[in-house]
Amino acid sequence: MVVGTHRNAQILISKSALYHNISNEKKRLKNNEYLFMVVKANGYGHGAVAVAHEAKKAGADGFCVAILDEALQLRDAGFDEPILVLGITDVEHASLMAERKISATVSSIDWLRAADEQLAQKDLPKLNVHIGLDTGMGRIGFQDKDSLKEAVDFLNQSDNFNFEGIFTHFSTADTHNVKYFDLQVERFNDLISVIDTLPKYVHVSNSATSLWHSEFNCNMIRFGVAGYGLNPSGGELDLPYELKPALSLTTEVVYCKKIDAGRSVGYGATYTSKEPEWIATVPVGYADGIVRALQGFSLLVNGKFCPIVGRVCMDQLMIKLDEPVNPGTKVTIVGQDGKEKITLQDIASYCDTIHYEVACLLTDRLPRIVV
Ligand code: PLP
Repeated sequence: MVVGTHRNAQILISKSALYHNISNEKKRLKNNEYLFMVVKANGYGHGAVAVAHEAKKAGADGFCVAILDEALQLRDAGFDEPILVLGITDVEHASLMAERKISATVSSIDWLRAADEQLAQKDLPKLNVHIGLDTGMGRIGFQDKDSLKEAVDFLNQSDNFNFEGIFTHFSTADTHNVKYFDLQVERFNDLISVIDTLPKYVHVSNSATSLWHSEFNCNMIRFGVAGYGLNPSGGELDLPYELKPALSLTTEVVYCKKIDAGRSVGYGATYTSKEPEWIATVPVGYADGIVRALQGFSLLVNGKFCPIVGRVCMDQLMIKLDEPVNPGTKVTIVGQDGKEKITLQDIASYCDTIHYEVACLLTDRLPRIVV
């Protein structure tokens, strides 16, 4: 998808907000705790490289990504900090990971055996490995002590690996109810009890765990959504300090007209005016990640909320105004305009989803401008 630089529609990423969120979290950590900034999915839609630069300035010690290509993007951009791929990478890329000093998440002895065979044939640095533990997320990781012990023994007796980390992931750290969280903690402690010497990084904390259960941080956190200024719980739990949302999204009116009563707007003619109305056309649509479910949601023009009327098109949408405006008038989709603001959470609530998804769905066609 090309980046749309010849229309006025852009995502603005605030360096100072990123710095504020990440440095504040770093300050809350105990001296020996590392902060790895999670920049997967293009930095949750914010722009991975730009976020990584700010995170580094704010004190991040390393990065987490979901897939190998995201790690390579950071290496190619010049980052030499530790980078952990959180997902399972096809074992055929073990050598590339070793060569580029990218840490692999491992969930099975078979993966280790295959990687060991491959690495033994090449003269490469040792592959850094983090062992994943499934304590209740049900996604990836070892579930029982025997298979874990077998994998750790295999890692330790091979010359091709550096046992660098061990981790788990909580599925309910962002809610009031801690019952399941406590069960996962218990399982984690039980599992790691079979390991004689723990690796350099022992980590269990996403943003929610570090914000609300920091006593379990071990010695590293994987800080994601809160670094971008978003409350991981949506709004269920109060934040221990202010987070500043880093992303805003603005565009402009490209066309404004008066329609007579009884005229329809958009595909399917789902909206019909009851009286003469001012309708403005805004040059973004679902191909930018402004999803069709946003029909009826209000955007900000001159500090006033203006509802999206008719269906959101692929590249354009229409809003209803109280009064005419000139083409070029700013439209705020996420951010502050005068006394009013729209948050990613507002959009998520309207669409019955989470802010993570709203941010990730903003497509590459929208330029990311770091301010
Ligand atoms: N750790 C793992 C394994 C993850 O999958 C994620 C994100 O989904 C994170 C950490 C970061 O989570 P959050 O963005 O809620 O901080």
